[in-house]
Amino acid sequence: SGAPQAQSPSQVPVGVDPNRPSIARIYDGFLGGKDHYEVDRVVMGKINEAVPEAVDIARGNRGFLNRACRFLASQTTIDQYLDCGSGLPTAENTHQIVQRAKPDARVIYVDNDPVVLAHGRALLEENDNVHMVEADIFNPPSVLKNEVVLRHLDFSEPLVLLHVGTLHHFEGDGGPEVMRQYIDSLASGSYVVFSHFYDPEEPELTEIAKKIEAILVQGPMGAGRFRTKDEILAMLPGLEIVKPNATTGPDLVACDEWWPDGPRLTPLSKAARCIAGIVARKP
Ligand code: SAM
Repeated sequence: SGAPQAQSPSQVPVGVDPNRPSIARIYDGFLGGKDHYEVDRVVMGKINEAVPEAVDIARGNRGFLNRACRFLASQTTIDQYLDCGSGLPTAENTHQIVQRAKPDARVIYVDNDPVVLAHGRALLEENDNVHMVEADIFNPPSVLKNEVVLRHLDFSEPLVLLHVGTLHHFEGDGGPEVMRQYIDSLASGSYVVFSHFYDPEEPELTEIAKKIEAILVQGPMGAGRFRTKDEILAMLPGLEIVKPNATTGPDLVACDEWWPDGPRLTPLSKAARCIAGIVARKP
């Protein structure tokens, strides 16, 4: 019934190749958005067939992002946010959550997907403190030396850096080095909000990870790597992890386990356990 229809050619923004699947559109499709094309729905269909509860990965990830932003905006005095790989505008976006607690907070969104940039400029830049920047988040200098970023953010003061659902789309072993460059640029007292596809190294869960990875790797849109706890923690060098909930020590947990809004009434699905979320502070 609610199956979204393909956009007509006249609705395809300039510079967008509707024949190439997009990470941003597929992820947004799992969150219930409507900006996907047939080529994206083919990938979504394959993922749903292989892992029917895969939607829980996207929902868990976005819920974590929202709670982490609410937490940092209300519990710290930080008023500048750099959201790398911010994705399509959705129900609640970083600046809306943050500016509710801190109306003057500056929020810079960074992405390189032309649909994200077009919709982001139209829908997210609601006031003078919110800006959408085009840059390659896996090439840190292109973000950290970007003119708009430097005009609005003061790196000599603490800021919140978001890399939520991004590094798993980065192939190879260079993730720790990418993140080290970002972390080096941050002032003491800054926070990093981070999530990543997670292989908890339990056979049933590793199987889910492998199934999704195999589908994403086939697409021409780059990787979707599920990494282990050690591989993920290696991407946050020198940071102190904020205790992720009332019962677990300072460690890595599934996004849904990161300070949930209340007690859990139903068990987490297996897929929901395959995305990890961390909030960490630079000492
Ligand atoms: N951070 C959002 C969230 O967690 O809800 C969106 C995550 S989405 C899975 C990943 C985003 O990273 C997409 O919007 C994609 O366009 C963006 N992205 C991927 N590779 C990128 C690159 N090299 N430079 C900039 N953005 C990139």
